[in-house]
Amino acid sequence: MKLNIKDKFNTTLPSDPILEPFRRQVTQACFSYVTPKKTSNPELLHVSPEILKNLGLSQTDAQSDDFLKVFTGNKILPNTKPYAMCYGGHQFGNWAGQLGDGRAINLCEVEHKHKNWALQLKGAGETPYSRTADGLAVLRSSIREYLCSEAMFHLGVPTTRALSLALSGDQVMRDVMYDGNAAYEKGAIVCRVASSFLRFGNYQIFAARQDNANLKALVDYTITHHFSHLGTPSKDTYIAFFNEVTQRTLTMIIEWQRVGFVHGVMNTDNMSILGLTIDYGPYGWLEGFDFGWTPNTTDRQHKRYRYGNQPNIGLWNLLQLANALYPLIEDAAPLEAILETYKTDFEAKHLQMMKAKLGLYETVDNDEGFIKDLEENLQLVETDMTLFFRNLSDFKDEATGFDVLKDAFYDFDNMPNAVKEKWKMWFLNYEARLQHEYGITTERKEKMNTVNPKYVLRNYMAQLAIDAADEGNYNLIDELFKMLKKPYDEQPQYEKWFAKRPDWARHKVGCSMLSCSS
Ligand code: AMP
Ligand code: MG
Repeated sequence: MKLNIKDKFNTTLPSDPILEPFRRQVTQACFSYVTPKKTSNPELLHVSPEILKNLGLSQTDAQSDDFLKVFTGNKILPNTKPYAMCYGGHQFGNWAGQLGDGRAINLCEVEHKHKNWALQLKGAGETPYSRTADGLAVLRSSIREYLCSEAMFHLGVPTTRALSLALSGDQVMRDVMYDGNAAYEKGAIVCRVASSFLRFGNYQIFAARQDNANLKALVDYTITHHFSHLGTPSKDTYIAFFNEVTQRTLTMIIEWQRVGFVHGVMNTDNMSILGLTIDYGPYGWLEGFDFGWTPNTTDRQHKRYRYGNQPNIGLWNLLQLANALYPLIEDAAPLEAILETYKTDFEAKHLQMMKAKLGLYETVDNDEGFIKDLEENLQLVETDMTLFFRNLSDFKDEATGFDVLKDAFYDFDNMPNAVKEKWKMWFLNYEARLQHEYGITTERKEKMNTVNPKYVLRNYMAQLAIDAADEGNYNLIDELFKMLKKPYDEQPQYEKWFAKRPDWARHKVGCSMLSCSS
């Protein structure tokens, strides 16, 4: 296995001088050197062919003993020095101090075809940042991260990616619902891949410690290696940097809203500086369209990270990043102006995104109101988001509206008349609105189908793959992986996955309720 190793982060930035993994506060350093834990009986369950290729590896490499050893923590690549990053973060709105890579270990950085990739094992053992936990990950959460991060990429959502999914062969103790019923589960390791895993929290920790020298070193490093088009680091460049992170974050969140993805834990340590979806934990996909929905049981009371609040939280998190960068800029006005534009840009981009979902491309007065009416209607009775928007591309007129869309309603037969009337009104408006377009053509349908996916990783689908994998059957992981590579294609062989969530999944743990325990 030959990787073109080009380590930059750990060769450029200050390291923690202590080499043992005992838990501690790590100051004046961006990372600590660590060694992955040896696993007792590792077994590769899946490898992403695209990521292999991105890294310059072949299928033969993926089948080698070296590959298995390296990506399950049992061998360190020559000339590499694995490390865990130091970061802090706001968790659920409160400053939590140092967090850091408690169970993520960066193996190395690879350059291939002028692209830089950091390779990181999730669940490979303890680090100085593991706090009270074990540094390990279980099979269920690893399957969820592996499948979803690749699915998001193919949906066109900025995201970290995944190279491999493996069993460690070790048992891991977890209390899934935090109710005192801890049990052993199979341990697993995912190798994640991204051009960088830097988070807002990496900058926040230095600002919180008033360590401006290291704050500057890290920001300059980020600009030089990941935002080099912005030019030589200076106060102006720092402002431009913040502006670009703001724009990227906004784009990412608009894309989440488009496909119905709810991250579940938008803490500032889970916000990528590159605007990538990162840290797939208790995330979920909307089944019924509902701005108030959150998959995360820990957030059930306040629903801070509910679907409809993701754009606001993005802004709140950016404000925290602005505070962290302030010591380098010492001028609040430009940062405030950028945060202000987030709000107006959000309105404009959200409108544009929703119009694309509806197949509307012309500018007509009161499109905002028309879309608001739709969002309200979608929440009157349980309505499947994915089915609704996908089938909407077949909409012709008010008279046949329900014929085209009734599959999307969970209980169409018992839909109250008042709700039916509201829909009919909206159908009439949609029919009229479409007259402002270039006609109801097949072209419109094709265009709509490029923004309204047919297949997403519904919560119960991931759970079925997990249940089968627990029994030693990995076929469904492969089936879903393949299907989700082409989420916008009809793929009739997978038609059974283009359906509402089955009733058994409504209240099942892992399907409608996700815990942070992973
Ligand atoms: P998150 O779930 O991504 O918000 O994680 C919050 C913090 O807890 C991060 O610093 C993680 O590295 C850490 N963490 C989560 N799970 C574990 C674990 N099993 N062992 C050690 N650290 C963990
Ligand atoms: Mg995290």
